[in-house]
Amino acid sequence: MDNAPSRIAVVGFGPAGLSCAQTLRAEGYAGALHVFSAETALPYERPALSKAFLTGASATDIGLLPDDGLSGQSLTLRLGETVERVEHGSLVTRSGSEETFDRILLATGLIPRELPGDLLDGTPTLHALRDLADAGALREQLLPGREIVLIGGGYIGLEVAATAVALGCSVTVVEMGARLLARSAPPMLADWLMAKHAANGVRFRLGMGVERVMDVGQRTLVKLTTGETLTADCVLVGIGGVPCLPDLPDGVMRSATGGLVVDEAMKTGVPGLFAAGDIAEAWNATQGCRIRPEAWQSAELQGAAAARGMLGLPTEPFGTNWFWTDQYDANIQMLGDLRSHDRVILRGDPAEERFTAFLLTGDVVTGAVFVNSGRDVRPTRKAIDARLTVDAAALTDADAPLRQVLAA
Ligand code: NAP
Repeated sequence: MDNAPSRIAVVGFGPAGLSCAQTLRAEGYAGALHVFSAETALPYERPALSKAFLTGASATDIGLLPDDGLSGQSLTLRLGETVERVEHGSLVTRSGSEETFDRILLATGLIPRELPGDLLDGTPTLHALRDLADAGALREQLLPGREIVLIGGGYIGLEVAATAVALGCSVTVVEMGARLLARSAPPMLADWLMAKHAANGVRFRLGMGVERVMDVGQRTLVKLTTGETLTADCVLVGIGGVPCLPDLPDGVMRSATGGLVVDEAMKTGVPGLFAAGDIAEAWNATQGCRIRPEAWQSAELQGAAAARGMLGLPTEPFGTNWFWTDQYDANIQMLGDLRSHDRVILRGDPAEERFTAFLLTGDVVTGAVFVNSGRDVRPTRKAIDARLTVDAAALTDADAPLRQVLAA
């Protein structure tokens, strides 16, 4: 695979696929570039699906590209074409066509995890939220006074809860874990968010699963493992996603979470086959381990790295992971490792809804959470990337400029 490529396929047209295609052209690749997508829409802002789109924004409003955004890119768009199988150097679409390529990027993202079929009684309508069609169906249901049951207290559940409340719905969140966001946010943020939702009228059922979901005509009954039964006009299932993968050739290494293990140039173990975005588990230099972040910025960086890898150009190591969630009037950003730390140092007052929580391992900041404190993000990211030793007491002084504290 050292020869310069002249036929490249990008499979999946989210942030990773788009970034790969744009980077290939920006780096001077002039050969054929086919972009396959199971969806027919051009790339759009998926984060808006749980917020602005549900409150009335149009598909055009949330498009990622201006009208002429792809002009000059000379892409062969294969929208609405699902890739079902990848072989060594070729791919097969659902319609049965087999085509050869020198390099293939898989950037196919996640599909929503479903409740096990044996929990369902009849054919209850269960909404999921991953694409425009899902969001279109959901928004028809979020009418004032409706009872909405959200199964899963993760980012989908909480973002939709905030939107549904704003639309006048009555909302209950059912989460199997003992707390919200157990895998993806520190306990102090989960507690703060839960209190904020509760203050807005959201009810929570934590530490309990769903035993049965029953279709009773216009409404749906959700029986919990505690015996309680919730009555819903609309049920949304947001219990995580699983990598959406075509059949793959031998030699592709799977990660423990079902993703694809890639090297620093996003190569899988199969020559010419690359992976990026939510499906890819890559080495993170700051955290010193492989991670599969399921986050926007990471997808864009990985797509660009894959393009450079395809062209044999050097790639940069991936640094501190970053993502955000907007709920009510809170903009929440997160950096780095959110799970393992020794202590949490607060700067600002959670009661005032503006604070930064630094997650320390020893005297090093290894992660951080920012609630309406976006100005703290950049200096903190630098400190995490540099594994800077910090003075924990100085961090708490909200009057001292953070840039200075972290430069010390
Ligand atoms: P998620 O954030 O992984 O949260 C799913 C939650 O549901 C977890 O707390 C999970 O607990 C819980 N759960 C699992 N099975 C359950 C069950 N049977 N009953 C009740 N709760 C159950 O997944 P998501 O909210 O569905 O989001 C899907 C993907 O979109 C994720 O990759 C997410 O990061 C991404 N997303 C990101 C954003 C953002 O970055 N702002 C916004 C929306 C979506 P366990 O952890 O114990 O399994």
